[in-house]
Amino acid sequence: MDNVTHIRNLSAIVGAAYCLDAERDTRSYATDYRGVYIGKALAVVRPADTGQVSLVMNYCHAHDVPVVPQGGNTSLLGGAVPDDTGHAVILSLSRLNRVRSVDAVNDTMVVEAGVTLQEARSHADEVRKLFPLRIGSEGSCQIGGNLSTNAGGTAVLRYGNMRDLILGVEVVLPWGEVWNGLRALRKDNTGYDLKQLFIGAEGTLGVVTAAVLKLVPKPRSESTAFLGFKSPRGALSFFGALRKRLGQDVTAFELISAAALELVLAHLQDARSPLSVQSSWYVLAEMASGRAQEDLDDAFYEALQAGLEDGTIEDAAIATADSHAAEFWRLREEISDAQTRTGGSVRCDISVPLSQIPAFIERATQSVLQIAPQTRMVIYGHMGDGNVHFNPLRPADVPVKEYLAFGAQISKAVDDIAVAMDGSISAEHGVGAGKRDELLVVKSRTELEMAWRVKRAFDPKNLLNPGKVLPLLHTAKE
Ligand SMILES: Cc1cc2nc3c(=O)[nH]c(=O)nc-3n(C[C@H](O)[C@H](O)[C@H](O)COP(=O)(O)OP(=O)(O)OC[C@H]3O[C@@H](n4cnc5c(N)ncnc54)[C@H](O)[C@@H]3O)c2cc1C
Repeated sequence: MDNVTHIRNLSAIVGAAYCLDAERDTRSYATDYRGVYIGKALAVVRPADTGQVSLVMNYCHAHDVPVVPQGGNTSLLGGAVPDDTGHAVILSLSRLNRVRSVDAVNDTMVVEAGVTLQEARSHADEVRKLFPLRIGSEGSCQIGGNLSTNAGGTAVLRYGNMRDLILGVEVVLPWGEVWNGLRALRKDNTGYDLKQLFIGAEGTLGVVTAAVLKLVPKPRSESTAFLGFKSPRGALSFFGALRKRLGQDVTAFELISAAALELVLAHLQDARSPLSVQSSWYVLAEMASGRAQEDLDDAFYEALQAGLEDGTIEDAAIATADSHAAEFWRLREEISDAQTRTGGSVRCDISVPLSQIPAFIERATQSVLQIAPQTRMVIYGHMGDGNVHFNPLRPADVPVKEYLAFGAQISKAVDDIAVAMDGSISAEHGVGAGKRDELLVVKSRTELEMAWRVKRAFDPKNLLNPGKVLPLLHTAKE
């Protein structure tokens, strides 16, 4: 069957207005957020509900048309865009954007895949609850994408990754059948927990159409500070002291290198550093608690005071209004986009055991500077989770292309160090197309074969997001 016939038949399912085939209409869907992965789509299909998703999947399965599910298209490794053959349909979930139900007693909410994270958070807020996933792309990324990437972000320390925040899923299987697994239970040991397969699968096993999200009570009090440190070692030591005093109330502990802060300040005309003393490293620390504001403040200030007195902390600014805290967070959240606008950064999203973070940063920095001496060491991220975005950036006077000629070498050096320290080469950004073949080096053949067995069980024709996540095993070195 030719493409024209496919487009006509898919249009009959979703309506002509929701089946886009002109290149000018499909281009933005086929290009990833950073403009690094540029593919080509046979069409972009935008179903209105689960029933239409099912019909589209059934059609594509019957006619061997590959399908790439897409949420907000904010993922960073090319997982949500097709290759450049023009054979695949992009299945956009953005019209599945209803909140189906909220149960404020059970602390759960059933939302469709295309609800943005920001919308999900504000619906929870309306019933005075918190949906605690928090990431910089929350205005665009969608629950289906968050679930499919097992998104992390800045509150994992306290509330966990997306995997910890999901109780049930509704999935359309590759051949079009709908599985209603929308159970809102915290206890259910009735065999395999199949929903887990779809979390973090990056759209390779099924299309998520809805999910049951776990809500938590809103904290009664919050306190945020921006701190200066001599080194990641100092920051780690303070993190330990803070956890000892405040335990679970430590919600975020975000490390920021001086180069990362300088970069973001250069991009945000109206922003300035919250501290009067310049440090080599900074931390944005956020506490949230069920206790009264005064109690939380007292405990937090005591910990800060102790850190300042023993010299671990060089300088501290405490947010005395919500607007101050928002300003601290803006500095942190804008780092990613500041790099994209500057161009020429090598993005490594690594994790190592928390105890190894300082040694990792030291070794990886040394290694990068040997390869490209004037590199700006933009390093930031979720230190409390043992996860840093280690993103060497070109020197200001070196053209993007010239610097990125070292990109593969830098990325390999950094990843090798993480692996040598029992870490991961992708802590929260997934695999997509960008990291796929690196799995051949970091995973055993046994593990990759198990993954392919799962894939073949669900998608024997390899039509669902082909070419992503799973490396071809015949290319593996024996
Ligand atoms: C500024 C910025 C900051 C970020 N910060 C973080 C961060 O702190 N932590 C973090 O984890 N990530 C972060 N990200 C990455 C990204 O936002 C997350 O990976 C997010 O979860 C992706 O959601 P999305 O809806 O955009 O998914 P997409 O990019 O559209 O898709 C991601 C993957 O999921 C699949 N998929 C999407 N929807 C479905 C569905 N309904 N069913 C099946 N498969 C589906 C796609 O095929 C693709 O493989 C950041 C990105 C940006 C741009």
